[in-house]
Amino acid sequence: MDRQEEFVLRTIEERDIRFVRLWFTDVLGTLKSVAVAPAELEGAFSEGIGFDGSVIEGLSRVYEADMLAKPDPSTFQVLPWRGENPGTARMFCDLLMPDGSPAPADPRHVLQRALTKAGEMGFTFYTHPEIEFFLLRHPHVPGAQPVPVDDAGYFDHVPHGTGHDFRRAAITMLESMGISVEFSHHEGAPGQNEIDLRYADALSTADNIMTFRTVVKEVALEQGIVATFMPKPFSGHPGSGMHTHLSLFEGDTNAFYEAGAPYSLSTVGRQFIAGLLRHGAEITAVTNQWVNSYKRLWGGGEAPAHLTWGHNNRSAMVRIPMYKPNKGQSSRVEVRSLDPAANPYLAFAVLLRAGLKGIEEEYELPPETEDDVWGLTDAERLAMGVDPLPSSLGRALEVMERSDLVAETLGEHVFDFFLRNKRKEWLDYRHQVTQFELDRYLPSL
Ligand code: GLU
Ligand code: MG
Ligand code: MG
Repeated sequence: MDRQEEFVLRTIEERDIRFVRLWFTDVLGTLKSVAVAPAELEGAFSEGIGFDGSVIEGLSRVYEADMLAKPDPSTFQVLPWRGENPGTARMFCDLLMPDGSPAPADPRHVLQRALTKAGEMGFTFYTHPEIEFFLLRHPHVPGAQPVPVDDAGYFDHVPHGTGHDFRRAAITMLESMGISVEFSHHEGAPGQNEIDLRYADALSTADNIMTFRTVVKEVALEQGIVATFMPKPFSGHPGSGMHTHLSLFEGDTNAFYEAGAPYSLSTVGRQFIAGLLRHGAEITAVTNQWVNSYKRLWGGGEAPAHLTWGHNNRSAMVRIPMYKPNKGQSSRVEVRSLDPAANPYLAFAVLLRAGLKGIEEEYELPPETEDDVWGLTDAERLAMGVDPLPSSLGRALEVMERSDLVAETLGEHVFDFFLRNKRKEWLDYRHQVTQFELDRYLPSL
């Protein structure tokens, strides 16, 4: 047993933890949990705990249903919302096949593979997400409209406001679980909030996003309201994005920084952005995986709609945030397309591999666009070589299924499952007749 495993067992004893939850994530990004008694942990650390993978979407084919969950002791945390007596803790797990090899369907493994690839090129990958979400008054009832908890807007301070109390409670809980919060505020739409996590290596960030979603939902429940990460719950208000700042380090040096270069951006940084843009359409089904995701990406509400980059351009997929010339360590690129209902492991994996491809193949970065590209005509956009992000899940899947990069990054199993599952979602949606159509066409046609 290694020192981290010993530390976990000692803590369990000292803090009287009676239940340990083993957490993992399915292909679509839903958190799964199995509780074990502390006595099982020694075995779990050495061999993993067996479970039937066939009950979980996308995890295994029926003929290889047996799987093992092996806890990662570095992710051990006590769950604050479960109380102290007796205490409950959790660890994220790696999923293994019965022969002990990594399960191809484990999203955490997909990201680990992409990180290994970065490591072979000499890089570590850091991410820092700005997570937006809505607070609603009631649990959803089919057919009903969502009701936000307030009427406030961007950076509004609401005296005794639900959002204010909510953010304080959520941040306290996150910090008690070792997740540092950098920034939080009310966002542009009624009931919409944002909490930004401090940057960390991409695997920890992805684990932290999974924890974040759970914490935010738990705190909402405690306060008698509901939190949702649905990308676009209201037609008339901006949607929720998960803008994520990405950076590569070589040892202690930020590989995106070059003193004196435009925006202090190194060649590696420029190539990385070029990779994000050139492969941007292929990876969008993963970064924006729901039918509803595309209701956000049409060009309004400060969400991006084009495969462009710019310094201050909010309609672009990639933005170079305000840079501080003397602070080379904070050089980074902000991807604005990603939404908070993505599977963070898979999304980070495809973003990283797209950027690395740009470095490997020494892609040339196209000129930045400073204008709001949405305001240009089609002809102007064509002349500038500006392509749109996919306009629907259906379009995004058509581009993804031809992508070698995404197939290689996700691996065959996840790639096939994802496409099959999402084609079905798209078909389910396509045959719906919407309220929009009834209101628009019935009176006149
Ligand atoms: N809510 C906007 C989006 O959907 C982003 C607003 C902002 O710039 O933070 O991406
Ligand atoms: Mg925001
Ligand atoms: Mg942002």
